[in-house]
Amino acid sequence: MADSTPAQEALARRGLMFILSSPSGAGKTTISRMLLEADNEIRLSVSVTTRPPRPGEKDGVHYYFVDDAEFDRMVDEDDFYEWATVFGHRYGTPKGRIRAALKDGQDFLFDIDWQGTQQLYQKDQQDVVRVFILPPSIDELRRRLEARGQDEKQVIDARMERARAEISHWDAYDYVVINENVNACFAKVREILDAERMKRQRQTGLIPFVRELMS
Ligand code: 5GP
Repeated sequence: MADSTPAQEALARRGLMFILSSPSGAGKTTISRMLLEADNEIRLSVSVTTRPPRPGEKDGVHYYFVDDAEFDRMVDEDDFYEWATVFGHRYGTPKGRIRAALKDGQDFLFDIDWQGTQQLYQKDQQDVVRVFILPPSIDELRRRLEARGQDEKQVIDARMERARAEISHWDAYDYVVINENVNACFAKVREILDAERMKRQRQTGLIPFVRELMS
């Protein structure tokens, strides 16, 4: 940072692990996409899954799609921060270069369920920020799932069942946002991210800066 001012250097901080969870259909994927487009300081943590790709999903972009044997191998080699079974398929957060990048101030967005959230939080309370997105009503959630036209009725019923179970974990999150209107919800999620970035404990560059101000 040869050309940076002391005030800019003071902004140096640890990256944060920004977790967005919600029942499927509550808008989490849209909010994640908006956040990644609007904010170039946060990167998606791409999960590994044994679920087959949906139309339009790309390997390495939406998920790393692997078979059961490969997933087993990754579990054995301790390649995951956390992993869980969701809807009969396994999903995991690969360690990759996340830990080193966090130290360098890179923020990561995690689109993971409550089980993964719990595991990440147990491992790293300092860097984790947990945000839960709720649908405005259960009827609206079903309507959104049906409007996707992606899944059979049986699958939608199973997702509704799972949604209720997922919602029951809302109180294990730091923030809860109701997604009645996608733009308003996005604005709130961004405010949370901005405020979390300014937490004193994260701003490791502040100490020399403040010392200098006081001298
Ligand atoms: P989908 O199959 O609809 O993409 O995702 C199903 C669920 O799995 C979502 O609730 C999503 O947040 C969760 N999920 C995706 N990746 C991971 C992961 O790496 N770990 C955990 N624990 N859950 C994940």
